[in-house]
Amino acid sequence: MRPSILFPLFADIRTLSGVGPKLEKLIAKVAGPKLVDLIFDLPVGVVDRSYRPKLNKIEPGRIATVTVGVLEHIPGRVKSQPYRVRVSDDTAVMDLVFFRADAKYLTDILPLGSQRIVSGRIESFKDRLQMAHPDYVVEHDSALPAHEPVYALTEGLAAKSLARAVRGALEKVPQMPEWQDPAFLKREAFVPFGEALAGVHTPRHDADLSPETPMRRRLAYDELLANQLALMLIRAQLRGPAGRRIEGDGRLRAKAIAALPFALTDGQLTTLAEIDKDMASDKRMLRLLQGDVGAGKTVVALLALLNAVEAGLQGALMAPTEILVRQHCASLEPYAKAAGVKLAALTGREKGAAREAVLKALAAGEIDILIGTHALFSDDVSFRELGLAVIDEQHRFGVHQRMTLQAKGKPADVLVMTATPIPRTLALTAYGDMDVSRITGRPPGRKPVETRVMSAARLDDLIAHLKHALDEGQRAYWVCPLVEESEKIDLAAAEERFVMLKQVLGDKVGLVHGKMKAAERDTAMAAFKAGETKLLVATTVIEVGMDVPEATIMVVEHAERFGLAQLHQLRGRVGRGSGKSSCLLVYHGNLGEAATARLKTLRETDDGFVIAEMDLKLRGPGEMLGKRQSGMEEFRMADPAAHDDLLAIAHDDAKLMLTRDADLKSPRGEALRVLLYLFGRDEAVRYLRTG
Ligand code: ADP
Ligand code: MG
Repeated sequence: MRPSILFPLFADIRTLSGVGPKLEKLIAKVAGPKLVDLIFDLPVGVVDRSYRPKLNKIEPGRIATVTVGVLEHIPGRVKSQPYRVRVSDDTAVMDLVFFRADAKYLTDILPLGSQRIVSGRIESFKDRLQMAHPDYVVEHDSALPAHEPVYALTEGLAAKSLARAVRGALEKVPQMPEWQDPAFLKREAFVPFGEALAGVHTPRHDADLSPETPMRRRLAYDELLANQLALMLIRAQLRGPAGRRIEGDGRLRAKAIAALPFALTDGQLTTLAEIDKDMASDKRMLRLLQGDVGAGKTVVALLALLNAVEAGLQGALMAPTEILVRQHCASLEPYAKAAGVKLAALTGREKGAAREAVLKALAAGEIDILIGTHALFSDDVSFRELGLAVIDEQHRFGVHQRMTLQAKGKPADVLVMTATPIPRTLALTAYGDMDVSRITGRPPGRKPVETRVMSAARLDDLIAHLKHALDEGQRAYWVCPLVEESEKIDLAAAEERFVMLKQVLGDKVGLVHGKMKAAERDTAMAAFKAGETKLLVATTVIEVGMDVPEATIMVVEHAERFGLAQLHQLRGRVGRGSGKSSCLLVYHGNLGEAATARLKTLRETDDGFVIAEMDLKLRGPGEMLGKRQSGMEEFRMADPAAHDDLLAIAHDDAKLMLTRDADLKSPRGEALRVLLYLFGRDEAVRYLRTG
């Protein structure tokens, strides 16, 4: 139950005076449906009305406040002409200009001969000063704010209406209990919540809008603490019911390892030891395995799964796309066979009798390891006994999706693998308090990929070079971007490119994209893997996980549209075999400064972590992982890039708090419950033993 102290803030905005159904809709669009959404709708600008020059000293273009006398009303002669009110101070004349004016109203507020204070943007037009639609026309100074917050608007929503609604909502903010530690507040010189909130809504200068102000930091900290507490509570809940030790005896593993054509790297061995330890404990494993692209995560997953099978349990491996599922099946099959373990696939493509057969065998325990897309988690899929679920290339799934997958109550250990090296800051918000393993280093024998940036103006040279390389027997990818908003256009671009390249290079060219039927896509992929096609034109469906060691050239068109982490992923698709590889980043048009800097980073390093940190700095977390995936959508006050120091503190603070008062029953605990509700972390509160 939401604490009653918060009731006023969770009222609908229509309960504010002056907000009717029409205004409510518009406000809900920019802020949200509740008062609490309004109080967290931060100003994006500030209007300073303290500029009060004489008219002859005006700098046109600025917002100014001037005291004037009304000289003359000049209605428009035709409807399309504006209504003018000529005014002056003792130095110059100015026109107040009104379109679609109501003459009666204007004579009321600006009677001839009266003195008025008007405030608004003054322009100089045909040698005359004018102010179109003044923001304020008042008789006395007292009615004029010296500084006004500016909020983001939407079409049809007037700045004043929104500002008034925000003020109304702020008035409803109750006196909150202090949920922060007093010593911490003192150290950071943080004011109480209510004061900080009022403060961020009354900026005086642009600097007051910065996320670095103490008031903004206070609110950010509140939100980050709520976030960390919530994630820890959820995690405690997920871990709670497990209590199963999984300890294989190593016999299947030994067979699989014997069948590998390579020795495991130190990084792989270390990670595996961490996973084994987690699985052997009676707590549920929630581990994030980070490894740069090509680091060799798949083998680690296989060996972890075999550990579960040795213990008499089943394993599941989930991948984001059909292609990856097929690839995993194909590449793991020989080792599974060597170990005498039964693999099966389950995706949207298994239908009818085939699907029934898989489900039956699964329930009977005849299948040891099931590899699939999210179809794995359909309601009708039941394992005889699932011991370990591995989720590959996790960044394709959202935070909440991930939580529900696990919350579905199969008390299996969970290993999440991601090839996007996630900076610590982001790992905390996106993955909460998971344990983290990192595979560092690469399998031996990898050569760095030579990376070049080039203009599309030189496409002819590039194609000639490509033709030569293909004739020599090399294989290449050609990636065209696929941006969600304009999927159709981009798809057309990929198809067009395919046709063009086919004309020049002949039948060696294949095409694969996300909108193809699964079977077609598999055929195209298989042909490329087998070397029947030498050049694969693709949208970013190949970004994640494709493994064709023979491919040595990666061309990325419109590289300027991709994020760094994504380009790094793409580049990781080559340089997997023993041949020398190259990555050609082709840009269209003129590269801006920012894009130049980004592409330069890529040329200079191939350390995924360095690149990820850079990406985070340049583009922000939402862009980097996708808003949904990064967990960023949940933040209103906090900006994890600007407040990463606070995030680390919040993490420790939350941990300490829950060790001392796991059920949040102490006075500070009670206050923290209010905080959790305030920031919409209701779900987490439900996990407290006594709500
Ligand atoms: P990722 O971490 O990107 O998922 P993969 O698991 O697909 O990487 O591995 C990339 C390639 O490296 C695969 O072809 C795999 O067989 C190979 N590989 C994995 N481990 C090793 C190793 N220890 N030595 C040599 N090659 C390895
Ligand atoms: Mg992989």
